[in-house]
Amino acid sequence: MAASEPGSAANFLPRQRDLAHLRQAASGCQGCSLYRNATQTVFGEGPAGAKVLLVGEQPGDQEDMTGQPFVGPAGRLLERALADAGFERDEVYLTNAVKHFKWEWRGRRRLHRRPSASEVRACRPWLEAEVAAVRPSLLVCLGVTATTAVLGRAVRLKDLRASFAASPFAIDAFITIHPSALLRLPSEQDRVDEYWRLVSDLELARARVA
Ligand code: SF4
Repeated sequence: MAASEPGSAANFLPRQRDLAHLRQAASGCQGCSLYRNATQTVFGEGPAGAKVLLVGEQPGDQEDMTGQPFVGPAGRLLERALADAGFERDEVYLTNAVKHFKWEWRGRRRLHRRPSASEVRACRPWLEAEVAAVRPSLLVCLGVTATTAVLGRAVRLKDLRASFAASPFAIDAFITIHPSALLRLPSEQDRVDEYWRLVSDLELARARVA
């Protein structure tokens, strides 16, 4: 996308593309309208050189308040699942397809709203820059928004779950669910079963980069 084109994070990319400069530049991004109602940009976290770059959908309420990705209930679940799958913390870089929290009031709570295709597209230059700076061996897509953002095409998650796919990043992608899907399951037994299915998915990803 041309740097002068409106409605894209491309207009805000810095000249130097290491993670520190990217994070600083992303804090002032106005590449789409989502910055207006969010507290702050929530950029990715983890080391350059991480083996695996995990992509979620967007920050949630707690991420928006703290400025850190995956610190809310879904993030804590993911952290546990990654550890149970055998990942060390410094092997993974965590980020989201969209860097600002999209939400609406529901009573007194700020409820997540799924980002639109155009918002995912507008934010993709940050994801591209993170992938280039981290240079992972594998991209792990958590949920349908992340998978769409990484593969650059509409997908049905149930067709691709637990599989590897070639991505336009020239790095293989692995597809699984977003951990927030577990939190929405009504039965405790289903949550337990799905948790171990997520761990089993992540073990496949772990085996690919071991
Ligand atoms: S969501 Fe992405 S493109 Fe939109 S303002 Fe935030 S960082 Fe920029």
